[in-house]
Amino acid sequence: MPLRQARRIVVKVGSALLVDGDSGRVNRSWLETLVADLLRLRSRGQKVILVSSGAIALGRRRLGLKPGPLRLEDSQAAAAVGQIRLAHAYKELLEAQDVTVAQVLLTLEDSERRRRYLNARATLESLLELGALPVINENDTVATAEIRYGDNDRLAARVAQMSSADCLVLLSDVAGLYSADPNEDPAAQLIREVRQITPQIEAMGGRSTSGVGSGGMRAKIQAARIAVAAGCHMCIAAGAHAHPLRRLEEGADCTWFLPSATPAAARKQWIAGTLRPAGALVIDGGALRALLDGRSLLPAGVTAARGRFDRGDTVSVFTAEGAEIARGIVAYSDADAARIMGRRSSEIAELLGFRGRDEMIHRDDLVLMQPPRAGLPASAQPNA
Ligand code: GLU
Repeated sequence: MPLRQARRIVVKVGSALLVDGDSGRVNRSWLETLVADLLRLRSRGQKVILVSSGAIALGRRRLGLKPGPLRLEDSQAAAAVGQIRLAHAYKELLEAQDVTVAQVLLTLEDSERRRRYLNARATLESLLELGALPVINENDTVATAEIRYGDNDRLAARVAQMSSADCLVLLSDVAGLYSADPNEDPAAQLIREVRQITPQIEAMGGRSTSGVGSGGMRAKIQAARIAVAAGCHMCIAAGAHAHPLRRLEEGADCTWFLPSATPAAARKQWIAGTLRPAGALVIDGGALRALLDGRSLLPAGVTAARGRFDRGDTVSVFTAEGAEIARGIVAYSDADAARIMGRRSSEIAELLGFRGRDEMIHRDDLVLMQPPRAGLPASAQPNA
C-alpha cells in the first residue's frame, strides 16, 4: 500500500468535499476527520502537504454571486474572500492539535519558471523540516485565464513533483477511474491499477463528473502523467466519507497510478536527459574521485566554468581530459562559480557577499554519465 509506505505524501481535496453545497460554508465535521487522518500520517513520521481547493466556492456565496460559471473577475474576487475563510478553518483545526499550519499560494509560473520553482521548492522543504503543515492553493486572485493551472489536480501534481513526494492522493467525488461513465453505463468497471497511461486510459478520462470543482477526470489523468513521470504514486479516491485516508488504507475502492521509478531516480533521469546543458564545469582529480564515491562537487575541485548558466541550470561536468563525467543542477551562476572555484566552501560568503550552498552541485542533483562521453558540447565552449 503506497500510502502507508510513502515518505512524503501530498493530499488534494476538492471543493465538492470541503464546501457544503447547501450552506456554502466549510464542511467542518468532515474536515475534522480529514485533519485527524493527516495527523496520523505525520505521527508515523510521514511528511504531509495538503493542497486544498474551496476558495472560490466559499467566497462566491458570501459575495452573493449567482450559481453557474463565473466571469474571471468574479472568480478572482470570490477567491480573495474565500481563501481567507479557508485558511482560517485550517488554522483553527490544526492549531487546536498543536500543528503549525502554513499557507502557500502558487501560480502556474511558480512551477514553470526555474527560479520561482526553485524558490517554491526550497520554501516547502523548509516548512516540512520545521514541522509545519503546508496548505497550498492556486493564487486565484492574480491568476489570469491563460496563466493558471485552473484545477487543483494538476497543481497538486506539480507540488508533488516539486517536493519530490512519493505519493499523491486526489480526494474527490469519484471513487476512481472507470472504464465508462458509471452514471450512464451500469457495466462500467473501476480500474484499480494503471501501470501505463495509454491512449485507452486517456479516453476513459474524456468526461467530467463533478459540478462543483473544475478538475474532472481529464485533469486527473493529466495530473497522473506529471506524478508518475516524477516517480510518484498517484491515487484517485472518493473523499466524501469521514476519515477518507483511513478508509483508503483499509482497502476502500480507488485507482492507483504506478510510477516506473522512485522520485530520486526520476529526477536523475531528467537531469541526465537534459538535451542541451547550459554550460560546463571542469574539475580536478580530487573532485573526480569524490564524484565517483557518490559525493557532492565542491567549489574547491572546480578549475573552470564554461558557457552561460544560472543557478538551477543543468550543466555538464568534465574531467581535465575532457570527458563528460557527470551532469547536475548547479547552485551558482557562471560568474559566481568562476569567483568561488578553487576556494573552500567556508570562503563563499566572503567572496560573493551572500551565503549560498556549500556545494557547487549537491550529490542529490548530480548524476554520473555512464559511460563518460568525450568532448565538450558546443554549448560549453568558451563564448558559446
Ligand atoms: N483553486 C480553486 C479554489 O480554491 C479550485 C480549483 C479546483 O476546483 O480544482 O477555489
